[in-house]
This record gives sequence, C-alpha cells and structure tokens, in this order.
Amino acid sequence: VTDPVFTWPGDAPAAVALTIDVDGPCGVTGSLGGTESDLSAMSEAEYGITRGLPRILDLLNDNSIHATCYVPGETAQRYPDMVRQVIEAGHEIGHHGHRHLSPARIDETAQYAEIEEGLQALAEAGAARPAGYRAPDWQLTAYTFALLGEFGFAYDSSLMGDDRPYIASHDGSSVLELPVHWTLDDWPFFGWTPDYGWPGADPEAVQRIWAEELRSAVAEHRMVTYTMHPEITGHPSRLAVLHNLVTAAREADVWFATHGEIAGHVKGRFQ
Ligand SMILES: [Zn+2]
Repeated sequence: VTDPVFTWPGDAPAAVALTIDVDGPCGVTGSLGGTESDLSAMSEAEYGITRGLPRILDLLNDNSIHATCYVPGETAQRYPDMVRQVIEAGHEIGHHGHRHLSPARIDETAQYAEIEEGLQALAEAGAARPAGYRAPDWQLTAYTFALLGEFGFAYDSSLMGDDRPYIASHDGSSVLELPVHWTLDDWPFFGWTPDYGWPGADPEAVQRIWAEELRSAVAEHRMVTYTMHPEITGHPSRLAVLHNLVTAAREADVWFATHGEIAGHVKGRFQ
C-alpha cells in the first residue's frame, strides 16, 4: 500500500492519539545523564508524577479520552500506585525502556537489558504486556528495532518516516509504525535543563502549531500523535495548550484512541 487513505470508527475524520511519556526520575538519570544527587532535577521529575500527571489524567477523564502512557520500567517500580491509577482509568501502558537509556548511546547488551528489564518491571507493576514500544529520546537503533520483532511488539512509536501509520522495515525486520515528530512533542518547546537551555516557547504559539497539525490530519483523514511529558504539560500554562487542543479535536469529531486501538484498527490495511 503506497498511499493509504484511512477510515476511522464512527466515520471520524481523523484519529488523535494523546501519548504521555511518564519518564519520572529515570528521565533525569537515564538519557539526560544526571544523577540522583541533583535534587532539583529529581524534584522536577517527581512533580511530574505527583502533580503533573494527575492534572493531565483529570483533563482526559473529564473528556472521556484514553491515552497511551509510555512508562520506563524503573519508574513503574518506583511508583506502582501511579501505574495502578493509570490502568484503572483505562489508559494503555507502553514500553519506554527500563532506565530510560537512549538505545543509540548504549551497546547491544544494554539495549537488550532495557527491553527485557522494562517488560519485567511493567509486569511486576501489574500492567498487561505492552503491545507498543517507544524508544527513549526517539533514538531507535537497528539492533533495538530487530528486538521489537523478537519480543513480539505489535507496534512502535519512535520513527518519523511518514505522518500516517506505516510499516517500517529494516534488515529483514518490520513493525507497524505509529509515527511521531518533534513538532508534536512538548519537550522541544518547553523542556529546559541547565545543560539544555533555550528560551521557552509561547504556549499560544505551540497551540497554533498543534491546531494546524490537527486541521491537516482532519483534512487528510490521517492520524496524529501528540506527545507530552507530565513535568512539562502538567504545569498550568502548558496544560492550557492540551485543553485547547482537546476542545478543537472534539469540535472536529475526531476519534480519540490509544495507540493500541489504532494499531488494531489499521493493521489489516497492511496485510
Ligand atoms: Zn521519555
């Protein structure tokens, strides 16, 4: 299939996936290379779990929307109650590494451990075996890509080769890809650390960008995936961006769905 036009349940004009990367403290100690003794960075991560995520989940609950939460194994171990609440609210849990290490910056043994230990930790926290994987920092490697098939993941959400669902293939392996992009992620606009500093974006500017991506997805009957981090979008001025996005998407009558639901819906297109 080279040019698929998708149809969505209820004749919705587009599918909208809200995805939350619940990195937690291992977002700091993993791919950002920080240490637990950096109490300020660790406390910001903690804020994401204890203040940011509940705010986001309340907003989703008020709008009867289920999201996909990508949770590193170590974060699931540290916050089992959070995992339970996410599951009980009907959201999907996806695999997001174990210690939130970027696959591109670790060797193959460590990449294997990230997948295996992340699966174990999610299972111990009571999550169903995740159908989907998202590479920390969206730095998927050829080796981890091959592991996705070995471990039986139904889909990946780390690549940017299309703005529609597609089959990603590499070296004899392939997987259903639910693509992402940095423009649809809160981190490049609002993320800030003393080592990665840049001026924070104006939430209204991000609102316009995300609204235009939504408008285009509706016009082209596509899906669109938005990615948020609780320690970022959980702050009130950023939560307003999500609130306005949800309002606009509801007005457009889109199908809000988890990545698992979308993967199940589109996979027949590619067989
Ligand atoms: Zn992450």
